[in-house]
Amino acid sequence: MDCIFCKIIKKEIPSKILYEDDLVLAMLDINPMNNGHTLIIPKKHYTDIMEADDILDYMFKIAKDLTPILMDKLEVKALTYLINYGDSQQVKHLHLHLIPDYLNENKHLKDIDEVYNLLKS
Ligand SMILES: [Zn+2]
Repeated sequence: MDCIFCKIIKKEIPSKILYEDDLVLAMLDINPMNNGHTLIIPKKHYTDIMEADDILDYMFKIAKDLTPILMDKLEVKALTYLINYGDSQQVKHLHLHLIPDYLNENKHLKDIDEVYNLLKS
């Protein structure tokens, strides 16, 4: 199967992994909308949210666990949880976006390695 997220999970493609366990992987989005834009993806291939089962609960549990870490380290006071479905879903492997919201503060996009090192420190 030619799925970029499955390849990331199998470590055939490198990624900026923030968290990983048997069920999910959380990584920085390589085309971030904001500094710290994170994706949570299930290790099992679900094409989209309509295929998903209890994994959604677990993805949101991990999202909640990551939220204070992202907010503290990025010094941000708001965060958006987002799941695309249909034509706006670019990768057809279910994923949950965690998008820090800088509330109109003028935050330029930093280098992804800089953000990664900050979050991993
Ligand atoms: Zn996949």
